[in-house]
Amino acid sequence: MNTQQTSKVILVTGASSGIGEATATRLVRQGHRVVLGARRTERLQALAERLRDEGGQVAYRALDVTRLNDMQDFVAFAEATFGPVDVVINNAGVMPLSPLNALKVDEWDRMIDVNVRGVLHGIAAVLPSMEARGQGHVINVSSIGGHAVSPSAAVYCATKYAVRAISDGLRQETDSIRVTVVSPGVVESELADTISDTTARDAMKAFRRIALQPDAIARAIAYAVEQPNDVDVSELIVRPTASP
Ligand code: NDP
Repeated sequence: MNTQQTSKVILVTGASSGIGEATATRLVRQGHRVVLGARRTERLQALAERLRDEGGQVAYRALDVTRLNDMQDFVAFAEATFGPVDVVINNAGVMPLSPLNALKVDEWDRMIDVNVRGVLHGIAAVLPSMEARGQGHVINVSSIGGHAVSPSAAVYCATKYAVRAISDGLRQETDSIRVTVVSPGVVESELADTISDTTARDAMKAFRRIALQPDAIARAIAYAVEQPNDVDVSELIVRPTASP
């Protein structure tokens, strides 16, 4: 456990798998106090126990980012456990890709609810206290899909463009809170498991052959976290080397 740098209180949404799990693991091992949030609490419990066994300071709580109350309770729990929140990492996301003419309207709604409303709820839950303290760091996970649209991904990309727009707006509205967008290329995770459209699922399988490991994104996030308060890493794009 490295406790050289200042220990921050860091919230990670979507910490039960993939990028969120890797990020939480890395940050706890660096000596930060991390609160894990997601719906699958049995996974969070197992991760928290593993990290505590290594001497890490970590707590977890059930969280559905689509509910503002849940997000506010998550922040209150973190404050009661570890103190004021220094960093929120709005990472939770879903990606049920499909062409628009498949009319999977429920899946469109789910992506908007988790990927856009979830990020807004994360911001809403921490912004008043960060503004009052005159410091804080909001890290939002977008995607290379927030830079370019591809077939079957119109709605997913729209949500990730929205994450970048919201982040840039927040950054411009404050001079005391750091705002970072992290935009990964394809990463090995459970993200594609919920794609119900068979064509889109097969297309994703081809992409996943060159996927990064989640810790590549965790390292990028940790880099943004460790900068001093007067340095805002506003965006990091991290792609597999073999990516087109
Ligand atoms: P995973 O599917 O492995 O992880 C997604 C996480 O989001 C899970 O922990 C899941 O937890 C959580 N989640 C989903 N819905 C909710 C909800 N309503 N409330 C709280 N948590 C929720 O995928 P990744 O790790 O790959 O995805 C993490 C982020 O990275 C996402 O925003 C994704 O869009 C983005 N990204 C991923 C890329 C990739 O190639 N993998 C590329 C670019 C961006 P649970 O189900 O337990 O609630």
